[in-house]
Amino acid sequence: MMAMGKKFTKTKASAEATSKSTEQPPRPPSPAAKVAEEQRRRDCPVDKDELGRSTWNLLHTMAAYYPEKPTETEKETMKTTLDSISKTYPCTHCAEDFRKDLKTNPPAVSDRDALAKWMCELHNRVNVKIGKDVFDCGLVKERWLDGWKDGSCD
Ligand SMILES: Cc1cc2nc3c(=O)[nH]c(=O)nc-3n(C[C@H](O)[C@H](O)[C@H](O)COP(=O)(O)OP(=O)(O)OC[C@H]3O[C@@H](n4cnc5c(N)ncnc54)[C@H](O)[C@@H]3O)c2cc1C
Repeated sequence: MMAMGKKFTKTKASAEATSKSTEQPPRPPSPAAKVAEEQRRRDCPVDKDELGRSTWNLLHTMAAYYPEKPTETEKETMKTTLDSISKTYPCTHCAEDFRKDLKTNPPAVSDRDALAKWMCELHNRVNVKIGKDVFDCGLVKERWLDGWKDGSCD
């Protein structure tokens, strides 16, 4: 396991919430603070949430483009890839839960639709665990492959 877990044990949001808990009442940001936020560098190390978003981008897009009729080798490669990510993911507690989840819910690698659904359900189990909304898996193709039907991604 990579030794980066400590950095990802506390989100920026929770750190801010902790540090602000004694401030009464909350003040609106000053114009200077707004400018500083707008000018914040974008080439900084990622936190747990940015890492998560980037990883879900990769995982859902991999599933969306997985073959409709995969060969046995492609199925094995996908299983190995997910297994490797679960062993190297640099958020220690996220990775531990991911490994447990893979044992209980082995990846559905039979074809593209099955994998995209499996990935959506995996993501939803994480969403539930951390108190986020459940995503409608019926929309997974629009979200990750074709773009929304209203044309807003065209
Ligand atoms: C394998 C893994 C395990 C993780 N475990 C933890 C953990 O234990 N604790 C923790 O705090 N964070 C964990 N994370 C990070 C967490 O899942 C989020 O990425 C992070 O909290 C940022 O959330 P977000 O609201 O920006 O959207 P994200 O959850 O990152 O989602 C990005 C986008 O994906 C789409 N989406 C949401 N749900 C689904 C779904 N079910 N199917 C398809 N698309 C969907 C939405 O459009 C959403 O905007 C984990 C990430 C990964 C990849």
